[in-house]
Amino acid sequence: MATGPNGNNMEFVYNAHPARVIFGVGARNKVAEELDRLNIKRAIVLSTPDQSLIAGEFAKMIGDRAAIVYPGAAQHTPVEVTETALQAAESVHADGCLAIGGGSTTGLSKAIALRTDLPQLIVPTTFAGSEMTPIIGQTEGGRKTTQNTTKVLPETVIYDPELTRTMPTFISGPSGMNAIAHSVEGLYAKERNPIISMMAEESIAALGRALPVLMDDPDNLEAHTHALYGAWLAGCVLGAVGMAIHHKLCHTLGGTFNLPHADLHALMIPYSAAYNREAASEAMARVARALGAQDGPSALFDLMQKTTRHKSLKELGLTPSGLDKAAEQAVQNPYYNPRPVTREGVRELLEKAYLGERP
Ligand code: NAD
Repeated sequence: MATGPNGNNMEFVYNAHPARVIFGVGARNKVAEELDRLNIKRAIVLSTPDQSLIAGEFAKMIGDRAAIVYPGAAQHTPVEVTETALQAAESVHADGCLAIGGGSTTGLSKAIALRTDLPQLIVPTTFAGSEMTPIIGQTEGGRKTTQNTTKVLPETVIYDPELTRTMPTFISGPSGMNAIAHSVEGLYAKERNPIISMMAEESIAALGRALPVLMDDPDNLEAHTHALYGAWLAGCVLGAVGMAIHHKLCHTLGGTFNLPHADLHALMIPYSAAYNREAASEAMARVARALGAQDGPSALFDLMQKTTRHKSLKELGLTPSGLDKAAEQAVQNPYYNPRPVTREGVRELLEKAYLGERP
């Protein structure tokens, strides 16, 4: 197989997803204009209960283009919430969604679009990146299922770094590391290609520079701008290529032990990267270069130490018996990973993460 710059695989498929992105400080002031562009005249404005005030501010800003505010979005997109939101949308004959928030609010908007085909304008306020992916996870009866369909891809996304400034550091740190995890796995994904790898490396570099600054100075607008830029790119990576051991492990641990999404990704990415250190050496060299370090997994570990509260699986609440169960589940269905996934290998990885050791 031909190899290009940076060890890129030069036989590839590149699937670009359509999206209109408006990025910049103050970009939120273009919401009304962008709703008009999408011909949305009666929007359902979505947020979590915590962000109802900001949803109200947006509703005020867009005047009679806001038909109703629904501040009921919840983690993991519960189907009951979607059904209530759909009723609210139908009650006012909504003709589009305006979502202001993180991955949970974007998830609700996508769930509505999946069922109605309504156009979506998303205004992210975390670094989750969901707004760039055709992926939707939904929970029903305690079971989470994931679909990949372009029906849920938002038409327009407005990124305004002033909106991520209100995140406390215990949310922004893990949220940024979660974005980095998308990019790290994108670099060794089965479907990796030179364009997506370029975005992934750039995103790790931007987030790697910005996150430590944000931990010391949470209001720093320049750092928010760089972090949000990195998060956008990471979302593009997640939406374009398949993920590997890290996402599988986090899905298993999160689902079985109900561990918090972003905190778990933040903690686990150095260990997942170390698992693939030799098998994906070119990807790891790019991670190291992006972070200005010698070794990718070690640099991710240092960044994780600076950006997260929970520094081991033990601190996140896992018990030693959980490690065996998680290792068992992680190898149940085969999936792509640069290094073959074995029960012993995964058990060892989890043990290190449990103790919080440098990988
Ligand atoms: P989230 O949306 O649940 O937000 C976490 C908390 O932070 C909420 O209470 C929210 O109200 C608050 N918050 C959000 N922005 C804030 C701000 N600027 N200031 C203060 N508080 C703020 O968390 P998340 O990490 O953004 O998203 C996690 C969810 O997104 C998970 O359900 C995950 O599965 C999903 N997700 C999906 C995809 C995808 O492609 N489908 C990608 C990434 C994440």
